[in-house]
Amino acid sequence: MAISREIIDDEDIDPTFVDAIVKAGADRIRTCIQCGTCSSVCPSGRRTAFRTRELIRKALLGLKEEVLSSPDLWLCATCLTCLERCPRQIRVTEAIIIMRNMAVAEGYMLPQHRKASEKLIRTGHAVPLDDANREMRRELGLSEIPPTTHASEEALKQVQEIFRRTHFIELVRKTEEHE
Ligand code: SF4
Ligand code: SF4
Repeated sequence: MAISREIIDDEDIDPTFVDAIVKAGADRIRTCIQCGTCSSVCPSGRRTAFRTRELIRKALLGLKEEVLSSPDLWLCATCLTCLERCPRQIRVTEAIIIMRNMAVAEGYMLPQHRKASEKLIRTGHAVPLDDANREMRRELGLSEIPPTTHASEEALKQVQEIFRRTHFIELVRKTEEHE
């Protein structure tokens, strides 16, 4: 996401973007006064170029494509600190989660998240059992395979059915288009 810009083209503005965010639950987002408190308390912003205030500003300007396609959208650790500190009581974290949901619906997802989602669909675990885990479990005196979808084909089928019915699989596959 560009840190600043001189000109915003008309065609980059989607006036329905903020309406959709408000409708999805971040109902006070329009009251943002751009004070920057959210950015100053953000632990993610301390280590990266992510600026919460900037994200909110861009959303308010209707820069839908720019916001949804930006990897910055995924840098929030959902710690809720900004939500606690915002003087306008804007549910900032919720707004970010809403925008993430929109991003995935539009086919944007970080490759790392897509890989983890594919593993989840395939095995029922975002981090499936590997040889190192098996070894560690053996050393701890545990059964080599945990009593999860790893041990039950039926449970895995049920979990995969949930992914199918909730269109999770569809959403994840859709994100391949943007890679
Ligand atoms: S703390 Fe609240 S009012 Fe201030 S910039 Fe962030 S979202 Fe806007
Ligand atoms: S919830 Fe996200 S944006 Fe807000 S302070 Fe925490 S990491 Fe930063």
